[in-house]
Amino acid sequence: MLKQVDVLVVGLGPAGGAAASAAASAGLSVLAIERKHQIGVPVQCAEFIPLPIGRYAQTAGVLQQRISGMTSHLPTGLNATSALPGLMVDRAAFDQALAQQAVAQGAELWGECRLVRLDAQRCCAVVNTPTGATEITYRLLIAADGPHSSVAASLNLPALETVYSRQYTVPLHKPLENTEVWLSADFPGGYAWLFPSGMRANLGAGADKRFTHDLKQPLDALHHSLIEQGIVGADIISLTGGLIPVGGLRAELVLGNILFVGDAAGLTHPITGAGIAAAVASGELAGEAAAHYLQEHQREALVDYENEIRERYTPSLQHALARRRQRDEDWQTGMNDAQHRQAWIAFPEYFEEVL
Ligand SMILES: Cc1cc2nc3c(=O)[nH]c(=O)nc-3n(C[C@H](O)[C@H](O)[C@H](O)COP(=O)(O)OP(=O)(O)OC[C@H]3O[C@@H](n4cnc5c(N)ncnc54)[C@H](O)[C@@H]3O)c2cc1C
Repeated sequence: MLKQVDVLVVGLGPAGGAAASAAASAGLSVLAIERKHQIGVPVQCAEFIPLPIGRYAQTAGVLQQRISGMTSHLPTGLNATSALPGLMVDRAAFDQALAQQAVAQGAELWGECRLVRLDAQRCCAVVNTPTGATEITYRLLIAADGPHSSVAASLNLPALETVYSRQYTVPLHKPLENTEVWLSADFPGGYAWLFPSGMRANLGAGADKRFTHDLKQPLDALHHSLIEQGIVGADIISLTGGLIPVGGLRAELVLGNILFVGDAAGLTHPITGAGIAAAVASGELAGEAAAHYLQEHQREALVDYENEIRERYTPSLQHALARRRQRDEDWQTGMNDAQHRQAWIAFPEYFEEVL
């Protein structure tokens, strides 16, 4: 079987859904493929989005609760609460709503379809579908396939630097209005979080494999401590985790007629691990660039996409990377509260120039 499309989107997370929607709304023929049976399931996310992308959380069932601020706990036991407003969403519903918007714009979605081979010279992707292998030829491909991008692997591009994570969804004894974060040697190269969502919360942690291979023990210890404090229940409603890119942008975001977006592009914040907002924004920009390139024959549209992403994100990513490098050195000798404050976005010291 052979299929031809203007735009092939690989992966239907927030980046892929936004890209498919933008490209289809411009009148391009768009096929988006997703290896999972159900879009967004299982959830691998703490489900916090910043306020500016709240408009993507308007579909019924997506918004779970509002967040006012963040309480950050330092190793000595001191803590500080800062205004960091945002929304807790049902991440599966969030991704599904973006995908449905793409369908409404005319995109075709194929679930349970995995990209297994890419011949970039021939603009041809081989996809395993439930009924067998299919070849798809495309005029432009958008790689929205997350931190382990198979598109990048097919092009022999280097793997992204990542941290790993582990997360439990636990019951809350009473609703909370702030997210909580723990900075500690227990989570080297990362941090632990409790993100409340109604009468549940996502309790998780991320760490750098160079410094520790054990997240279970410190996360279980934090869970027990929160049970003892009467904040959460002992049940683990669900368990998840995943890799989070922390090394900044890929060397190139555009290779010929292939555009990288979201986590596949390395857009996740190297300190917080947040990537939903950048995934949606980059997906939209890539979909728009596809339309300028394919419909209006603007040859510079793809270069413009790369330039726009770099202009928007390089300052914050470079600053975060500099803080990360500094923190990597500090882990070796043990970090005090002052060093943690410099390395965490909730404190003013984070935004000072890195020497
Ligand atoms: C534990 C955890 C907690 C997080 N919490 C937050 C948070 O609270 N807030 C936040 O902003 N960010 C958070 N992030 C980061 C956020 O989840 C990502 O930045 C975001 O999902 C990136 O979206 P994306 O569309 O680029 O990639 P993804 O969401 O990873 O989507 C990629 C899609 O591509 C599909 N795919 C991959 N390979 C193929 C293939 N070969 N063929 C077909 N389909 C394929 C995958 O199945 C997947 O659905 C968290 C990450 C983790 C791991």
